[in-house]
Amino acid sequence: MGRKLLLENDHIEGIHSYEVYRKNGGYKSVEKALKSMTPEAVVEEVKKSGLRGRGGAGFPTGMKWSFLAKPEGVPRYLVCNADESEPGTFKDRYLMERIPHLLVEGMITSSYALGANTGYIYVRGEYFYIIKILEQAISEAYTNGWLGKNILGTGYNLDLYVQCGAGAYICGEETALLESLEGKRGNPRIKPPFPAVKGLWECPTVVNNVETIAAVVPIVNDGGDAYAAIGIGKSTGTKLISASGHIKKPGVYEIELGVSVEEFIYADEYCGGILNDKKLKAVVAGGSSVPILPADLILKTASGEKRLMTYESLADGGFATGTMLGSGGFIVMDESTSIVKNLHTFARFYHHESCGQCSPCREGTGWMEKILHKILDGHGTLADVDLLWDIQRKIEGNTICPLGDAAAWPVASAIRHFKSEFEAYVTNRKSIPDVKYYFHCNNLDAAAAYSSL
Ligand code: SF4
Repeated sequence: MGRKLLLENDHIEGIHSYEVYRKNGGYKSVEKALKSMTPEAVVEEVKKSGLRGRGGAGFPTGMKWSFLAKPEGVPRYLVCNADESEPGTFKDRYLMERIPHLLVEGMITSSYALGANTGYIYVRGEYFYIIKILEQAISEAYTNGWLGKNILGTGYNLDLYVQCGAGAYICGEETALLESLEGKRGNPRIKPPFPAVKGLWECPTVVNNVETIAAVVPIVNDGGDAYAAIGIGKSTGTKLISASGHIKKPGVYEIELGVSVEEFIYADEYCGGILNDKKLKAVVAGGSSVPILPADLILKTASGEKRLMTYESLADGGFATGTMLGSGGFIVMDESTSIVKNLHTFARFYHHESCGQCSPCREGTGWMEKILHKILDGHGTLADVDLLWDIQRKIEGNTICPLGDAAAWPVASAIRHFKSEFEAYVTNRKSIPDVKYYFHCNNLDAAAAYSSL
């Protein structure tokens, strides 16, 4: 059984309430940081821990914090990105729902380290019920003297606010989130300047994911070195994984980074194996934005080594034979899954969520969706598969924000690893057993036309 740092107490009855959370060691990191550490010392511990951003990019958190500009007389902000919308990812929701005070505690300790006196938690609009949970936790923190003026008599002041998003995936991109927080349309900004220099209301701002901020609590409590001792290489500490798809035990798991992918899929402690004991076909390891890998490549690298749940091992082989840990949205597909249908679902999502600022993303995502629809509709050609490949190549790297890449990478990997499946759709469409279901869901006229073929 791996060590748990964030979900250690999630089974305790009433842990969402202040009394129970405090009785089980809650708010110790705030006491320790504010009473016995300088802000710089807290930043130093986070650097030592090797913590990397848990939202998807995996950028070293301590380094991100050290980029924060500190001009005299200008406020600084800490913004928590709780706009968790990546398909297949639901671990932040679990954490906020079960242990909201862990996030509030992390916000206080992190804000102190950054010299911020105002913090925001920007929550995905669809998580409206979590907003109430967080507001309750914040209110309890104010009542008990952890927020407000002169916290613990140290002279440090902090106010925390919860902001509700309006349901746009793109607001999970940090600059789009800041635009939205300022009351504007959530369009990503061109970078530089980065938020650390010009962020919220043009002031220096750090934007961190929920899990990242929560991880600051054990790092301050136990020290950066203790955190860094867990994991392998530059993948330190623990990671929350949202496991879904064709597995026996879907759910949120806290793993020590370094567990093998095979163990994570098959061990009873984690996913418990493939549903109905079918064969594993493919895995999307880090949310819908990362390359999909077939069973042989997700279990072992191209050089035959066991694939591990680390940033480095999952990326081994680059995009030719590897993928990314991403947000930790681990989607498992068994042998009955249609990769093309699955890809169409992703493509439809990205087309819908494109903000439309840049042409390669705005037009390209639409074309990818249309071509995949045509292939599933039974009217695709081999040239369409080539066109799909060309379009994703023209999107990747040519857009303002990473949504373009996120839309392109699944398409590229699906064609790279499952081309024969695309070819089967375009050459032998009548033999595809699940096409009618697809029609039934999305296009009743086409379904009628197909049934008459
Ligand atoms: Fe908008 Fe897409 Fe361009 Fe991002 S890549 S700025 S979502 S159009």
